[in-house]
Amino acid sequence: MERYRSLNSCLRELFGEKTYKLAFDGGFTCPVRDGTKDTRGCIFCAGGSGDFAIPVGDDFGRAMEMAKSVVADKGARKFIAYFQSYTGTYAPVERLCSLYSQAISHPEVAALSIGTRPDCLGDDVLELLRELNRIKPVWIELGLQTIHPATAGYIRRGFDLAVYDEAVRQLREREITTIVHMIIGLPGETPEMIRQTAEYIGKSGVQGIKLQLLHILRGTDLEKDWLAGKFKALTLEEYIDILEQCIESLPPDMVIHRLTGDGAKRSLIAPLWSADKKTVLNAINSALERDNVTQGAKCLQCHSERSEESLSKGTLRFTQDDTSFI
Ligand code: SF4
Repeated sequence: MERYRSLNSCLRELFGEKTYKLAFDGGFTCPVRDGTKDTRGCIFCAGGSGDFAIPVGDDFGRAMEMAKSVVADKGARKFIAYFQSYTGTYAPVERLCSLYSQAISHPEVAALSIGTRPDCLGDDVLELLRELNRIKPVWIELGLQTIHPATAGYIRRGFDLAVYDEAVRQLREREITTIVHMIIGLPGETPEMIRQTAEYIGKSGVQGIKLQLLHILRGTDLEKDWLAGKFKALTLEEYIDILEQCIESLPPDMVIHRLTGDGAKRSLIAPLWSADKKTVLNAINSALERDNVTQGAKCLQCHSERSEESLSKGTLRFTQDDTSFI
């Protein structure tokens, strides 16, 4: 039994076979690094989360050949071109159009995935995404990380929750699949606060989520605060406990693209247990079985929607004292 809706099963349904994500670096920066909003970047970020991304330059075809050679032994025939590094919509729309048109028209690219920020989706960019999405599926990955304003300020995110809400509204209007990133273990957040972020994302009408463990990386300001003892990294047991609460709070049809972190091991300071991804994933899957966790089991929105559906179909019955539904 699948306890959550995984990316792999979603990809098989969509494309009929295993489809690999290839990470590319489009040569972007972001507004919290280039001085537009800040120069320091997000407090946890060691450089755009694209350590394995292939630089594209002006020639996507060449970059595609390089990226494919890395997974040549997998025998894959379909790929998702994932523009992972920095903010993938933070450039003049002409440059974005040239880059992404090349990527989406490549015969082996089944879909285009772009990592970006909710505050970097102007009307011209949104219209470009709409056009590209008519050719092949376009996925937009939004870095939200948390819904809590104090944490958002601490991590130097640089936009309010209302900006996220509006970006999601605009993307939904254009029928663009949206995946939201959140971080588990940010300083000052309780398990309940983290679960609230997952619940909010689940209710916001997006199609996918990446649940990521907070990594403390070498050279970041987060590392300084951790070394100063201002907060503790999560243990594996704590992480799994919070993760389970998040999974239960998400709608059952939302695709979970990631259950843990995926950072470069060489810059990881803590938690070191997260470096062994295979062991972590095995521990998570065993715990989901042990604790009988299923996605959506505690999704209040889903239950109320089901109740409304049942009401409209007249399938609810009164209990003996006629005071509550069963
Ligand atoms: S996390 Fe994203 S938005 Fe923040 S500094 Fe890194 S690349 Fe820029």
